[in-house]
Amino acid sequence: MLYQRSSALFKAAEAVIPGGVNSPVRAFKAVGGTPIFAKSAKGAYVYDEDDNRYIDYINSWGPMILGHAYEPVVSAVIEKAKHGTSFGMPTEIETKIAELAVSMVPNIDQIRFVNSGTEACMSAIRLARGFTGKEKIIKFAGCYHGHSDAFLIQAGSGAVTFGSPNSPGVTQGTAKDTLLAKYNDIDHVKALVEANKDEIACIIIEPVAGNMGCIPPKNNFLQQLREVCDAHAILLVFDEVMTGFRLAKGGAQELYNINADIVCYGKVIGGGLPVGAFAARHEIMSHLAPLGKVYQAGTLSGNPLAMAAGMAMLSSIESDTDLFKRLEEKTEYLHTGCAEALNKYDIAHTINRKGSMLSIHFSEDEVIDFDSAAKGNNERFKSFFHGMLNEGIYIAPSAFETWFITDALSYEDLDITINAVAKVAQNL
Ligand SMILES: *Cc1c(COP(=O)(O)O)cnc(C)c1O
Repeated sequence: MLYQRSSALFKAAEAVIPGGVNSPVRAFKAVGGTPIFAKSAKGAYVYDEDDNRYIDYINSWGPMILGHAYEPVVSAVIEKAKHGTSFGMPTEIETKIAELAVSMVPNIDQIRFVNSGTEACMSAIRLARGFTGKEKIIKFAGCYHGHSDAFLIQAGSGAVTFGSPNSPGVTQGTAKDTLLAKYNDIDHVKALVEANKDEIACIIIEPVAGNMGCIPPKNNFLQQLREVCDAHAILLVFDEVMTGFRLAKGGAQELYNINADIVCYGKVIGGGLPVGAFAARHEIMSHLAPLGKVYQAGTLSGNPLAMAAGMAMLSSIESDTDLFKRLEEKTEYLHTGCAEALNKYDIAHTINRKGSMLSIHFSEDEVIDFDSAAKGNNERFKSFFHGMLNEGIYIAPSAFETWFITDALSYEDLDITINAVAKVAQNL
């Protein structure tokens, strides 16, 4: 494949944008080479500026669960834009999408819309602190909750990829209020809670981790977290920015039948426009301004175009009773095919999967937390990534990312992907 235009565009971008990208995971730092510039996308495919076509497993890092340029979303945005793009006044569609989201998700009464997953998580912990009157939070190594200061402590994917788990610019004062636990290790959580009695406002977790590759919770880990939280008046915050409206209509809360106290959304909920949200029961949400004293705001929050896109997306998900079954079957098919291809050429690997999330770790050991994810063979991943790209398969340019399976993928696309894995594996 030729990448002439992408290379030229990257050069131009580098001159005026740091690293040539507006979000670091888009750069090819971890795998070498220069990023590919997207020109257009439709369904399961993305086309670059050199007119190469790829079967896409990034899907804008999650939102495009029904495929790119999904018609109901595109027409909703176009129609909305004709009537004005922002008012700074409340609009009816904000209530409509809030009603729909609340009806789809268990255990929430109210939802507040923001502009990104970062904002949602940042606001959720402020609310948890305001509600409990306590200051510390527990997060898990390898979980990513956006780039706000409190979370940039061993923060998965982007931050891990670049070897700067503790970003300069995050103060010691902030870092000391974030306690770090090990994913899938309830004893470690209990020890932290014991050592910081009456100081912990919330435990925030990706209920299925997706930012250190896909790592599902073991056995009853989420249930045990719920019990620890209940015993110590700690709020349980599910960061469902990746899993929300993806693993089930009601996300991981529904899938695992565990109620979180605050839930964060992003990605799918915006249908590809910049949207995040956080939600909880009345009792907690009533602490939020203007009802309560916990401040949170946004000039473009609930933006009509973003809400129109989100509304079209959630409506489609809500009305499609087979969607999650189809997605899971496609993902399972891909899992089986990839495993066979890798086994055929004796490539040591572990594949993790939940719903429409999947990741291939180049390590024989079980991958259950950040340490085991970090054991993967990174050199091998680099070769795999470039091999797949050359075969027209676009996966995330980092070993710490999940593949996102979209409903637009046909079984023929999956077979092409599996054949590509076999071809690449042969040369690894
Ligand atoms: C992507 C992601 C975020 C951050 O969302 P942005 O919209 O990129 O700010 C937070 N949490 C999780 C679990 C994510 O996957």
